[in-house]
Amino acid sequence: MDWSLLLTGRLRPDLVDVGAMQLELQTAAAFRQMQIGAAKDGFDIQLVSGYRDFERQAAIWRAKLNGSRAVYDARQQRVDLSKLAGFAKLEAVLLYSALPGASRHHWGTDLDVYDAAAVSNDYQVQLLEHEYQAQGPFAALSDWLLTHARKYGFFLPYRQYRGGVAAEPWHLSYQPLAKLYQQHFSLPMLQQAVESADLPEQPLILQQLPVIFERYVKTICEPRK
Ligand SMILES: [Zn+2]
Repeated sequence: MDWSLLLTGRLRPDLVDVGAMQLELQTAAAFRQMQIGAAKDGFDIQLVSGYRDFERQAAIWRAKLNGSRAVYDARQQRVDLSKLAGFAKLEAVLLYSALPGASRHHWGTDLDVYDAAAVSNDYQVQLLEHEYQAQGPFAALSDWLLTHARKYGFFLPYRQYRGGVAAEPWHLSYQPLAKLYQQHFSLPMLQQAVESADLPEQPLILQQLPVIFERYVKTICEPRK
């Protein structure tokens, strides 16, 4: 198996459809079990996103850097990227959007979820922290996940802000596989993926890649024991 292509989103793992999304096979099976368990507690867990390939992530990255897609800071305020220079510009995007090649969504093991039972059918999930906190519609789901997700093999790699990726209480990772993938994923693999792509700010990205890899790839909230 070519780990380098698989882990950077350039080789599709075996995927199955879950609604309009796709997940890796074992992850999808575990997710269905979690849906069943959560339904007994009144939640209807659905995906906002699942597997994403390199090109999809590159499209998100380009749209954020050229201003056609909003960039938010940790207080959910829009950021004007044109007022930022150098690495600060990349940091602003990296808070919520992984570098193409470095998204855990490339692995098919990671997913973003919401509770469809808590909102109307036409509710647009924004994946903003306040939706999952305090009075937000998904606060109860967030609590449920913290207690129960591990029973189904899932953990929350972005449970808290650790200096890289923002807190993402909606992002789950299927630990049995993702742990293995994280161990195999290396800086040279990411460098090769970025070098072979057409990305804005590519020279700056490559120059800062060791920092990006350390802060946004290696730094996660480990599963609770
Ligand atoms: Zn996610």
